[in-house]
Amino acid sequence: MLREYGACSLCPRKCKVNRLQGEKGYCGQTAEITAARAALHYWEEPCISGTTGSGAVFFSGCNMGCAFCQNQEIARGEVARSLTIDRLSDIYLELQAKGAANINLVTASHFIPSVAESLRLAKKKGLNIPVVYNSSAYETTDALRLLDGLVDVYLPDCKYHDSILSAELSKAPDYFETAMAAIEEMVRQVGDASFYPVGTIPGAAGSDQLEDKDLLSADEYNDLVVELDDDYEGPLVKKGVIVRHLVLPGHLDDSKKVLLGLNERFGNSIYISIMNQYTPLRSVPGHPELDGRVPEAEYEELLDFAADIGIENAFLQAGDTAKESFIPDFDYTGL
Ligand code: SF4
Repeated sequence: MLREYGACSLCPRKCKVNRLQGEKGYCGQTAEITAARAALHYWEEPCISGTTGSGAVFFSGCNMGCAFCQNQEIARGEVARSLTIDRLSDIYLELQAKGAANINLVTASHFIPSVAESLRLAKKKGLNIPVVYNSSAYETTDALRLLDGLVDVYLPDCKYHDSILSAELSKAPDYFETAMAAIEEMVRQVGDASFYPVGTIPGAAGSDQLEDKDLLSADEYNDLVVELDDDYEGPLVKKGVIVRHLVLPGHLDDSKKVLLGLNERFGNSIYISIMNQYTPLRSVPGHPELDGRVPEAEYEELLDFAADIGIENAFLQAGDTAKESFIPDFDYTGL
């Protein structure tokens, strides 16, 4: 068990350090699970947060290290409390008891073997709401296979298309191809998206016994959501892959290539969440364009492009979403 940490090649960085003996690689974490917060979180896509919130566990450390990171204090492991696998499984159950619509594992790529163990244990103890795996998509398919059958909803990023941009901003020149292979494995595991019927509360009696015919397909969900207003009380996601693209100011062409690549390869097998909430938190050397927010005209042009190339399954953001309030306090709440 957990032998993968021994000469760590869990992610494409392939550091080969022995995390079981306390060594740290690019992600900055040993084999000990660390996290910064576990709480209900309301700022995900509406079908994930619903009205009750998503049960988000924010893990410490990260294998990306993006220059514009929106959660740097936990990504660098500055806020990190150690957890046992048993405690982590209990945290999921506590979030479920608080009414979480799902368990949302945020940036757990470098802890996949332990997270898989914690999910198996939690399911034995009664975890019966969907599990969402929220990641950068910079992962190996071998590592993702450890989660097969344990995760219901994959929520990966697809950050860049251009290898120079991904090298400069995340030291990952192979990002796009790696992310595409990772997303392919995610789609293989969970298939097309489906949603709970309106009014169904995940975890409530009978909710985990719904058959496929009882669930809403993507088409049915899209038809319904068009008719819903801002106060979203619509269906919650049961399974599927939702790929997030955070639009960076000044990189409209790269964003278009990302959407085109995703749509050509996966079509309606995935949802794409096109996000304009980029918040400049520090200046990035060599990239003055990242000092501002995404101009409305750039975002609108990208949305028009998405429609023109035939993307049907999409989440968009409206209004002033670029607020630091989206970033929660990393104060060990819920650990
Ligand atoms: S998980 Fe961490 S130590 Fe392992 S290969 Fe990736 S960055 Fe390196």
